[in-house]
Amino acid sequence: MAQITVMGAGIFGLTAAWAMARRGASVRVIEAVRVGAGSSGGIVGALAPHVPEQWNAKKAFQFDSLMMAEAFWRDVAQSGGRDPGYARTGRVQPLADEAAVARAVERGQNAQDLWQGLAVWNVVPVGSVPGMRLSSPTGLIIHDTLTARMRPRGAAEALVAALASKGVVVERGAVAPEGRVLWATGVQGLEALGADLGQALGNGVKGQAALFRADFRDAPQLFADALHIIPHADGTVAVGSTSERDYNAPDTTDAQLDDLIARTRALCPDLADAPLLERWAGVRPRSRSRAPMLGEWPGRPGHYVLNGGFKIGFGMAPKLAELAADLLLDGEDGVPDGFRVADSLKRQ
Ligand SMILES: Cc1cc2nc3c(=O)[nH]c(=O)nc-3n(C[C@H](O)[C@H](O)[C@H](O)COP(=O)(O)OP(=O)(O)OC[C@H]3O[C@@H](n4cnc5c(N)ncnc54)[C@H](O)[C@@H]3O)c2cc1C
Repeated sequence: MAQITVMGAGIFGLTAAWAMARRGASVRVIEAVRVGAGSSGGIVGALAPHVPEQWNAKKAFQFDSLMMAEAFWRDVAQSGGRDPGYARTGRVQPLADEAAVARAVERGQNAQDLWQGLAVWNVVPVGSVPGMRLSSPTGLIIHDTLTARMRPRGAAEALVAALASKGVVVERGAVAPEGRVLWATGVQGLEALGADLGQALGNGVKGQAALFRADFRDAPQLFADALHIIPHADGTVAVGSTSERDYNAPDTTDAQLDDLIARTRALCPDLADAPLLERWAGVRPRSRSRAPMLGEWPGRPGHYVLNGGFKIGFGMAPKLAELAADLLLDGEDGVPDGFRVADSLKRQ
């Protein structure tokens, strides 16, 4: 039986540990601080696809991962008995003018091929999709049925429970790894990798988000005015996010979040008076290539890296976890070009 140590209990570490544990590997998970201490401990949880145009390996990979998500999270829920809050509830987006409508119609046609008939991207009248009220200058909206959501903290708890069902307990503190090691250590991991290799391989991008009390649990999420507005199964609605390359503190909120909250209340009448439950900030691990990073740690045999989730880590996690399991357990390298650590090095 393969002996694996996963360093880091964020979404990448926990999903990879789960993929390996359910294949029968002997897995340890070591977390320096606590489960969800990094960006995975947040509140937003949109599993939103890339726009269906100019298709490339990263968009195709994300599509596959989003399609895998339902079965992946069902298995996690059944194994551990905890609900990750996953549901494919779709998304609506208002259309500002005729040019936006024409673009959206074209993308809908692309989606017929690119999404393989498994989900649709339609232009429909505003008000024709049940959910939170919104207005659209053209009277039309995009409705897609691929977008899903999960509750980040719920997903982490569900993964911890599923791992426990296989006898895997998350250990805390400075514990030395043994066997093959997967470093899924978020922004600290990017920094450590860069320091070891003498090149910056990525950086943190801070984000701030807000959580409201409002029960639209079955409604599609909204994307409007650059805001992601995500109803969750527990009767909350999360809204994100700012995007800050320069920041002093990784976990503080400020006037940028006040502005985001004000824009949300103005845009979305159903949230105008909704109680604010939480203000949250975290730092997204962004690789230089902006793509996720999976592969051997150059110069450290037996050590591997899974990182660079950036803004779509939750959506990418199911497929990356399976690829990590293929790589660490079977030596099978199905990692797409552009996703390997070595690919980021070449870009320098
Ligand atoms: C405001 C905001 C909103 C977001 N919204 C979305 C969204 O809607 N959809 C989406 O898909 N993504 C979203 N993201 C991005 C997503 O959160 C990240 O892509 C994802 O959480 C990255 O997961 P990770 O496991 O790589 O890193 P992390 O969650 O940061 O986990 C790394 C873990 O490793 C631990 N660690 C570090 N060093 C060590 C060490 N030496 N030993 C042991 N443990 C260590 C840390 O304590 C941490 O727990 C958002 C991010 C932010 C900030």
